[in-house]
Amino acid sequence: MRPTHPGNVGGVARAMKTMGLSRLTLVAPLVHLPNHEATRRAAGAEDILHEAHVYADLDAAIKDCHLIIGTTARKRSVEWPRLTPQQAAEKLGRESRHGCVALVFGQERSGLANPEVERCHYLVRIPTHPDYSSLNLASAAQIMAYEIFLKTNALIPSAMPAMSQYADQEGMQRFYEHLEQVLLELDFPLTRPPVILMRKLVRLFNKARLSDEELQILRGILSAVQQHVAKKN
Ligand code: SAH
Repeated sequence: MRPTHPGNVGGVARAMKTMGLSRLTLVAPLVHLPNHEATRRAAGAEDILHEAHVYADLDAAIKDCHLIIGTTARKRSVEWPRLTPQQAAEKLGRESRHGCVALVFGQERSGLANPEVERCHYLVRIPTHPDYSSLNLASAAQIMAYEIFLKTNALIPSAMPAMSQYADQEGMQRFYEHLEQVLLELDFPLTRPPVILMRKLVRLFNKARLSDEELQILRGILSAVQQHVAKKN
């Protein structure tokens, strides 16, 4: 709503892009795009700035939306239904599947005006220290975007192997036997009893939760070491 600082507009675009959000709408901005400072602060999220929609007033911006949630640092004289950031993120994520939803931010200096609050179904306040509740606009956007990301992307495939890709116990046992064999062939000074060192190595590899592929790489290295030793002897 009427952002005054180009840096904040860029910061909001960056906050959105890091959390997989893309539809930025500016209402009566005092910043006109393209703007050098906005682009600089967007740092790689310029596409969101290029595609930003600009409207003259809030009513035009939200006309297709069926859920509108406002963000405010302040208590209001006439209180409005409140949600926590997590509840808001959950609602926005769920209801965005059925149509347009909006999360509305106020101007840097004045925040949301009362007529704007009246357009909102709910208000959200990001909890802060009681002595200073007013976050920077882009910081508030980042926190809300993060909450939405947590709620809507919980099932994004991560770098962790899927369950079936973890090496199984049988594979791990064969690996430990192989490792012990190689250590013996290298005359590696095994502790007495040797089982203690092996137990510590088992603990080390257990912490790593190896995938099948990683296990194969380690087995390959052990075999290469054995071949190297055999050639030397
Ligand atoms: N002086 C203004 C603060 C504006 S900060 C006021 O008193 O309202 C700019 C915008 O960032 C706010 O309008 C709101 O959308 C968001 N914001 C800042 N701090 C927030 C908080 N603690 N909780 C929710 N939104 C916040």
